[in-house]
Amino acid sequence: MKIKINTTKKFELINITSEINDLIDIDEGIVNIFTKHSTSAIVVNENESGLIKDFERLLKDLILEDNGYNHDKIDNNAASHLRSFLLSASETIPIKNSKLDLGTWQSVFFVELDGPRNNRTIEITTISK
Ligand code: ZN
Repeated sequence: MKIKINTTKKFELINITSEINDLIDIDEGIVNIFTKHSTSAIVVNENESGLIKDFERLLKDLILEDNGYNHDKIDNNAASHLRSFLLSASETIPIKNSKLDLGTWQSVFFVELDGPRNNRTIEITTISK
């Protein structure tokens, strides 16, 4: 199963929790959520606007733009790849009662690190218990 996303900003967190819940086709097991792009990530965290700004600030503080990275000679987006490198391409989450078994303050986000882009593809794979 797939989720396709068009992003509108260079850096963007998109809450995909409800889209994943709608796709879950088993009662109990696990789901893997995998982004197919090397300048993006999947994370689980709290959906709070201040925290989302803090997350963007942290990534920008840790990995500077225009820092003389080798990959910038190829397509000028080394910082986006390196920010993705610090995060993860996938998350695996338990399923109970046909829904993600998340904690109260947890949501699943697609992290755009080099937008805007069309047709960002996220692969959703479930395994039944
Ligand atoms: Zn690149």
